Amino acid sequence: MTAQPDDQDPADPQANNPSACGLPSNANIDARGPVQKSDEEWKAQLTPNQYRVLRDQGTEPPFSNEYWNHKADGTYACAGCGTPLFLSDTKFDSGTGWPSFFAPHEPEQVGETVDTSYGVSRTEVHCNACGGHLGHLFPDGPKPTGQRYCINSASLAFSEDSSHPTEP
Ligand SMILES: [Zn+2]
Repeated sequence: MTAQPDDQDPADPQANNPSACGLPSNANIDARGPVQKSDEEWKAQLTPNQYRVLRDQGTEPPFSNEYWNHKADGTYACAGCGTPLFLSDTKFDSGTGWPSFFAPHEPEQVGETVDTSYGVSRTEVHCNACGGHLGHLFPDGPKPTGQRYCINSASLAFSEDSSHPTEP
């Protein structure tokens, strides 16, 4: 007998956890921002991993991505179009293994869509300029916002902030 693809391993801690970031998305992103490119153009510009996450709503493994434990001061921009999305000031250690922020840099740059794939209702977040998938938003973050933006490293491009030099 072949295994049923829909069977969920009860030992998988993410299988029944609606707050897990680990599931890919199947959201209907409204991508009418100013940055419009064809799939071919995105494939030529992005790495295969960036394309899988940004354009195909994939998810990276926790604790095995570029920025989950990255603590430098600076700006996290969209890896697709360069729009500044998050600042290091709002990054916190969520313990999830993905980069986590309690607020976006400019709220209008980060779009939200309800994602009901996998039988759970989650808020998908994406770059409003290019429609690139970023991750998910959960209401269990720290003060002052109580929000947790769980973001894929592949969706982000970090640049160090030279106006905030490290301690002398
Ligand atoms: Zn973008």
